[in-house]
Amino acid sequence: MPEISEKVVLESVVLEKSHENEEMYLKAIYLLEELGLRPVHAIDVAKLLKISLPSCVEMLNKLDKKKFISYNGRNGIQFKGKGKKLAEKIIRNFRLTELLFRDILKLDFEDDSVCRFEHVVTDKIAIALRKVLNNPKKCPHGKNIPVY
Ligand SMILES: [Zn+2]
Repeated sequence: MPEISEKVVLESVVLEKSHENEEMYLKAIYLLEELGLRPVHAIDVAKLLKISLPSCVEMLNKLDKKKFISYNGRNGIQFKGKGKKLAEKIIRNFRLTELLFRDILKLDFEDDSVCRFEHVVTDKIAIALRKVLNNPKKCPHGKNIPVY
């Protein structure tokens, strides 16, 4: 049944993409807060991710429903516990991956592939990365690596 398996593959790709997409939003909110923006508003996230405001608002409402953040137009975006934790893990993965690229793989750590790589880093991989990288505290840009 090639048709069915093709469809399943397609769907899982879409699922994975939407999951990555959620992670990109949480990452964006985290980075904006780190820059001192409080509260972060939808327009800030839309600008950073280079997407339209309506699709940004749609995703923020989705993340609100899933209790990762609380969001409304007037008060902007606030992390909830599990959203903050997930964002910290994404940032951890992102920054450990930057160091992996720079120090071990000798690759450009500002390459787009860092951004794709970070999504496949599990807790187990993060622990191994930390070890191999000598327990780094800062990324190549001098930003803190969240501890998890
Ligand atoms: Zn960095």
